Formats: sequence, structure tokens, C-alpha cells
Amino acid sequence: MHLLALPLCTVAALSPVAPAPPQTAPPVVQRVLTSERRIAFTFDDGPNEQYTPQFIALLQRYGAHATFFLIGTEATKNPAMIRQLRAAGMEIANHGMRHLYLRSDDGEAALAEVRAGEQAIVSANVPRPTLYRLPGGIGGPRVRQAVASLGYRLVGWSIDPRDSMNVSTAKIVRVIREQAAPGAIVLMHDGPPTAARLPTLAALRTLLPELKAQGYTICSVGELLRSARSFSYRETRRAPLPMM
Ligand SMILES: [Zn+2]
Repeated sequence: MHLLALPLCTVAALSPVAPAPPQTAPPVVQRVLTSERRIAFTFDDGPNEQYTPQFIALLQRYGAHATFFLIGTEATKNPAMIRQLRAAGMEIANHGMRHLYLRSDDGEAALAEVRAGEQAIVSANVPRPTLYRLPGGIGGPRVRQAVASLGYRLVGWSIDPRDSMNVSTAKIVRVIREQAAPGAIVLMHDGPPTAARLPTLAALRTLLPELKAQGYTICSVGELLRSARSFSYRETRRAPLPMM
């Protein structure tokens, strides 16, 4: 705070100092205002050799698209699956290289995570992603600024069935069913490799036909953003999700 009050030349003389946090941090899109009956489904922490193909097949059965926020370390192991996602019309997005929780608002660490995660994805010969989700939704002004400086839009969520917390299929169905609304962004998981995703898959077998019958189009975040009249930037405030 003090530095801001000093003349510019004094600030320069004190360098190197950590830059002041930006006055306004880039927002995190939580949901969008749209006149269309659309909901974006998102799947984090993959690709997962066992489960991701099952999610693809299920989504395709109902003509649905989704956004997959990939972890770089998993992407590196599964380049063929990244191409399979793209061939199936799914949106590929960046979730960092190592799934670090950037609690210290470290902009340099964020830059490294985004760049390495991006490299892991484009190495599979797919286009560079433009959407980024912060692991756990954690990122202060410096982290958000760093991500945005690399050309990414930050994406959060408005519906969280907490499917990475060993909840039941019934709970996942109930949360999404109760909160489904035009413009919502749903957080789910197809990874990491050690996690069982059967409850999420089972929930989708119920929800996809049900939402379709209600007139909803299940789409990617990119498709939802293109249908938007405005965005909601409500902060995500809750404890981070552990990797399982
Ligand atoms: Zn994650």
C-alpha cells in the first residue's frame, strides 16, 4: 500500500520488489446469462485412461458436448486420448501442469503451471486451449493476472455436486437436478487416475436424458460463452477439493 503513494522514480529505485497486486483481478466466469436453455458440463483432472472414453461415449449418445480441463501430467501420458476428445467434439482446456493449489498468490508459479500444462496439451497435436480452471478454484489477483496475460479466460462453476468427495450417485443427481438452470456451469471429474468415477458416470446416465427431455442442450463452456448475454463473476468460496 505504501509503495503506491511514493513517486514513480522512488518505486523504480527500490526495485527489484514484488509488483503490487493488480487493482482489479481478471474475473472467473461462474455462470452466464443466456436466453437459451443451455448448461455447460465440465470434467476435471483427466484424461483418465479408464474413464474418459466412457464419458465420451455417454455424452455422444445424447448429442452432448462438454469441456475437459486436463492436468498436464495426465495429458502427457495420454496424447491419443486428447485427440479422441477433440475428434468427439469435446472442448479441451487447461487445468495446470501439476494441479498446484496456488494459495500464496504466486504469479510466477501460475505462469509456469499454465505454460507447462499448455505444452502438454498442444504436444498431442490439438489446438492451444483458451480456457483455464484454477485447481480448487484458488487464485488471488496475481495468479489470475498471470493466467489472463497468457490469453486465457478463467472458468469456475456454479454447480458443484462434489463428485470427487466419494459422494453417492443419488447425491450427484440430486444436486445437479435441483440447481440446473440456463447458463449454469457444472463441475465434475473424469480423473485423476486413482479415482473411481462410477458414481459420476451413473449420475450422467440419469441426468443426460432427463435434461434433454426438459429441453436443455448440454454443451461446452466455449459454446455456452458464445450464447451469453453477460457473465456472472460471483466468487467461488469454499475449501479446495483434494486430489483423490
Ligand atoms: Zn482439479
